[in-house]
Amino acid sequence: MERTFMAIKPDGVQRGLVGEILRRFEAKGFTLVGLKLMHVSKELAEKHYDVHRERPFFPGLVEFITSGPLVAMVWEGDGVVASARKMIGATNPLSAEPGTIRGDFGISIGRNLIHGSDAIETAQREIALWFSSEELVSWQPAAVAWLVES
Ligand code: GDP
Ligand code: MG
Repeated sequence: MERTFMAIKPDGVQRGLVGEILRRFEAKGFTLVGLKLMHVSKELAEKHYDVHRERPFFPGLVEFITSGPLVAMVWEGDGVVASARKMIGATNPLSAEPGTIRGDFGISIGRNLIHGSDAIETAQREIALWFSSEELVSWQPAAVAWLVES
């Protein structure tokens, strides 16, 4: 079953949007299989954003991600990687469509509330980076028969 990694960044936590964001993915029908509130180390932040290491915004990004608690999560479901990216919206919240998380709640690229894996392979790498296998819970929601055809 397809899984994706997402993180509610420190701005989302500080602004009290944790419940709202979790609600959207729950209501959509995806299954929560991993969840933790944590303070991220500089080492983990740098590893997570390794592809952006040479970008000018990298130091500020790492400082921001480590500046306060963050909610790390793993969600499961058919097509969850691409669908969650759509629900998150464009990187710059000013360009993100209304109805998306960034489009509804943000105004700045440096404070865009949430991270989501951009591809299945990236999701696998990020899930392994952020969660141990014991922290991931495999389960089947009772509503599954009302969400997907068998
Ligand atoms: P994402 O996959 O939509 O999160 O976007 P990227 O992978 O391109 O960038 C990763 C994160 O770096 C973004 O979510 C932003 O938090 C940050 N970022 C990207 N571009 C910029 C920028 O031009 N300025 C600033 N301040 N942050 C940026
Ligand atoms: Mg990205």
